[in-house]
Amino acid sequence: MAALVQIENLRKEFGNVRALDGVSFQVNAGEWIAIMGPSGSGKTTLINILGGLDTATSGQAIVDGVDVARLDEAGLTRFRAEKIGFVFQQFHLVPYLTALENVMLAQYFHSTTDEAEAREALRRVGLGERIEHLPAQLSGGEQQRVAVARALINHPKLILADEPTGNLDEANAETVTRLLRELHAEGHTILMVTHAPSMGQLADRRIELAHGHLMQIVEMSAEEEERLDHLLEQMWIFGEEGVTPELARMRQSGIHDAAGTAARLRDLGLLELRGSEVTLTERGVHRARDIVRRRRLAERLLTDTFSIADTETDSHACKFEHIISPELDQRICSFLGHPKSCPHGNPIPPGHCCPHA
Ligand code: ADP
Ligand code: MG
Repeated sequence: MAALVQIENLRKEFGNVRALDGVSFQVNAGEWIAIMGPSGSGKTTLINILGGLDTATSGQAIVDGVDVARLDEAGLTRFRAEKIGFVFQQFHLVPYLTALENVMLAQYFHSTTDEAEAREALRRVGLGERIEHLPAQLSGGEQQRVAVARALINHPKLILADEPTGNLDEANAETVTRLLRELHAEGHTILMVTHAPSMGQLADRRIELAHGHLMQIVEMSAEEEERLDHLLEQMWIFGEEGVTPELARMRQSGIHDAAGTAARLRDLGLLELRGSEVTLTERGVHRARDIVRRRRLAERLLTDTFSIADTETDSHACKFEHIISPELDQRICSFLGHPKSCPHGNPIPPGHCCPHA
């Protein structure tokens, strides 16, 4: 079966920011893919390039046999109308048109309007009674359902959803999630950006972006992940101390099965082994940095905000760093005023949210 979406070595630079740094993957027709990853990792950029809303610096994005970068303005408009259904975090409804008119507008760009079909689409998302309402007269969840009806009206080959439940409360998120599940069951191809692990779990496959790179998704146990993270963290600390990272030193600093863990990290492309000396790859550096950042932010939070005694922060922070999601990381950092160092005086690597980044 030919892939519906083919992405080859896609790069996007905004000035000197590398939003996408050589991303390749394929999506088969009928698949539901979740794109995960922290804020700023390039998820929206990827969705926008696929939908022809933005252009790549280099590389290819092919959707249903069409090389999106080769389309001119008119071709792009037709491509979006015929092949793509967008659902954004911000609903992007036209404020002075009713729910029905918003859906019919999408039909208009596609071919001809069909009011009966537009009514049916709104009934399907549970808004049969609200078709004459203006966006301002609808709740956030209802507006997002109009957006879903609008995305579906032209039977698009590909549904692109960028954090479709990001601005919704739990009940409305549940409704939109149910709609996505139904669409998937009917055979639609969905590429969805989400922060919510529970939503990611519903997809057939998860793709993780970090700093514009695709991370290999490996389903591993929490214990294994902790073991790998612990070694990466130690590598970062060796770097700060100017110590040559060797397996023997890892064992001395309390890393269990240093050789086995290092070999696993090598297989994941996070570090390189040369004799007994170990070096982080670029991706390894990014990951280690993220772990150390979460760890030190957790220490700051525990001492400054919860006044947990210094002797206890270590074991608490150790548990905490695995609970903190990339989203929470930025919120904690902002809440603490973007601290530059942990309570022990070690530097906290700045994140995307930090003004001194
Ligand atoms: P995500 O959706 O994963 O949060 P984005 O794709 O929005 O990430 O952004 C990836 C990176 O590219 C970020 O560092 C962001 O600041 C940068 N970026 C995105 N859009 C623009 C733009 N229009 N101009 C400059 N930088 C941008
Ligand atoms: Mg985004």
